[in-house]
Parts: sequence; C-alpha cells; structure tokens
Amino acid sequence: MASELITGIAELTTQAGDDSGSPANRVTGAALVVDDGRIAWIGDASAVPDADARTDVGGRAVLPGWVDTHTHLVFAGDRSAEFGARMAGERYSAGGIATTVAATREASEQQLVDNALRLRREALLQGTTFLETKTGYGLDLDTELRSARAAARVADVVTYLGAHTVPPGADRRNYLDLVTGAMLEAVGPYVSFIDVFCEEGAFTVDESREVLLAGRSAGLGLRVHGNQLGRSGGVALAVELGAASVDHCNHLDDSDLDALASSGTVATLLPACDLSTREPLAPARRLLDAGASIAIATNCNPGSSYTTSMSYCVATAVLQMRLGIAEAVWAATRGAALAIGVDGGTDAVGALRIGGAADFQVLNAPSVSHLAYRPGVPLTAAVWKGGTRVRASDGAIPRSVSGES
Ligand SMILES: [Zn+2]
Repeated sequence: MASELITGIAELTTQAGDDSGSPANRVTGAALVVDDGRIAWIGDASAVPDADARTDVGGRAVLPGWVDTHTHLVFAGDRSAEFGARMAGERYSAGGIATTVAATREASEQQLVDNALRLRREALLQGTTFLETKTGYGLDLDTELRSARAAARVADVVTYLGAHTVPPGADRRNYLDLVTGAMLEAVGPYVSFIDVFCEEGAFTVDESREVLLAGRSAGLGLRVHGNQLGRSGGVALAVELGAASVDHCNHLDDSDLDALASSGTVATLLPACDLSTREPLAPARRLLDAGASIAIATNCNPGSSYTTSMSYCVATAVLQMRLGIAEAVWAATRGAALAIGVDGGTDAVGALRIGGAADFQVLNAPSVSHLAYRPGVPLTAAVWKGGTRVRASDGAIPRSVSGES
C-alpha cells in the first residue's frame, strides 16, 4: 500500500497521552503519514517526510475515528409505533424487546447481515471506525447462532447477549440452562464477550452472575447492561467480576461510584438511549469527578436508541451531561477502546499513535469544540479506516489492521 501524507491539519487530537483525556492530547501544526494501514509518522508540519501521495485537509480538525462499543445492529423489523407511544407518555420497559425478537426469528441470515451492514456503513460515514455489536434478538439457539454469524461479518467485536430477556413462553430455568449451555457453545466461535441485561423485568443479579461465569469459563470477556431503570445491582456485579464495562449506569449511589472508581470496569454511558426513553441522563460528571473511567456509545437498536451518530452522543454529553469537550471526545475514542478491553488490540484503536491503526476522521471545522458548538450539524467530512479513505460510493467496508476477526 502506498504511503500518504496528511497535511493542512488545524488541530490534531491524538489521544496518545496518558489516558486522562487531558488537552495535551490535542496539538496544532502537526501532520501525519499513513502507511500499510497504520500511522507511520506524526510530527511537525514544517518537517514532513516523503510520501507517495499527499492530502491537504485544508485547515480542518483531525481526530481518531469514533469507537462505538455498544450497538445492537442484528435485528429485523421496526418499532417506530412503540417510540411514538413513548413520546405520547408511555414508559419504557424491558418487555419491548419481544417485538424485535419475533421479527428477527422470521428473517434470513442474509437479511440480518444486509440490515446490519446498512447501519454499519451509516456509522462509518459519520466517523465510527471501530464498532461492537451484539446478538440478543434471537433468544433461541438457531437465531442466536445466525445472529452471531451475521454480527461477525459486520462488526469489529461481537458480544453474545442470549441473556437479553427470557423469551415469551419459555421456562425461565430452562432458558438459563440453554443460554449458559448449548447456545453459548454454538455462538462461541463468533463472539469474544458475553453480556447480560441485569434489570428488573430481565435478569436478577444471581441469574446474571450465573450467565457471566459461564461465559468466563468459555473464555469470553464480560460486559453487563446494568442500572438503567433502577439500582439493579448490575454495577456492583460487574465490578465484583472484573467486567470490562458496565453499560447504562443511569441510577448510581455513592457506593456504585466508589466501586467503579476503584475498579478497572469502565462505565459506558448511552445518552441517546436516555433521551429516547426519556429517562434521566447518566451522571457522567459525578462519575468522572469520583475517578471512574467512562466511555460513550450509541446503543444503536430499534427500540430504545435508533441512532448511529456518535457525534450526537458527544454533543449531548457536553451540552447536557456537563462533560468538557476533550473529556467527551476522549470517552468516545480512547475511553471506549479501554471499555472494549480487547487484549493487545486497544493500543491500536481510539488513538493516533505510531504503529497504531490509521483509523481517523476529518471534521468540517477547525476544532473538535465544534462538535458541541454546532450540535446536529453533520461535521464529519472524511474518514480513513485501516489507512483507506472511505467513500460514500464504496460497497465494502475497509478492514482495520487490528481487532478484526
Ligand atoms: Zn444495549
């Protein structure tokens, strides 16, 4: 692959510093060279090395591609009627998942891949260069397996969420045995994490622990949906088991904050979901002030958060959750890479470091501050993934140099 020099960078966000999200991670007057899918050089624009090609981005900001660590892209059907009812005053509950399960079971594997790829491309063109997605709308062995295979064709990291909810008509104990037994064994080759919806209406803390320990025994990393609708105990369980992340985290007391702050478990916040369900936004400021690590993700799914826009989530985190711009951008890039916790792979995503993946985006703005200063404006002007510039007309999604299975 030919090398490419990128110049005209008004502001370069590297996230190459000390993982604190400090302004030191932003520099001016820099240029970078991409070679063989990786960042080959970063330095002063006045002393650039030779390269085969040169791209001048014309005084725009460059930052790592978004790392979206929480999506549910493998599904069929539509829940706009449920959304409308919620906006008319009905409360969100975990039970709406059953609607998507029924449609997903009817869909072929190719239909699931096509729908997920449509959303994956939508995300990529908005700057998301690394993306996790989950199973969890099959909830029977055949459909969970189809979902896992479909997910592996679309996403960088796949999570097994057979424990999304007990499907209608199933015996609770039998279903848990299936999730931790034959279903887990079937999806194993396609997934690297196990997840559980630890919430009233879904799974109890004890049931969630059983699911997670089964996944750990099968060699999977751990993640938890927790404390979305109440203090479900999901946060405490995630910390107890050393999960890579606990996601949602809307309802936290001081003991939850202390537990997260003294652990390696990342709190992944999903502001678009909070807005779409009209639940209180997660306490991002309190988490950071307590010393916890946070990530921001879309939770793209057809029920509670039907957006692929990380920029929208970043703007919300700044404007409504009281994060600084550098903090929010860090949580959506480097912080998110830490939340996905793929051993050996995290150095290569969410940051622009020599030797790391050349996954980055160019904003139609001179600074990342415009992401919140100009909310709702589609600012991502260009995206490179794995060193290849993504074009809207391309059919295929370029592969990253790391994290791909
Ligand atoms: Zn979710």
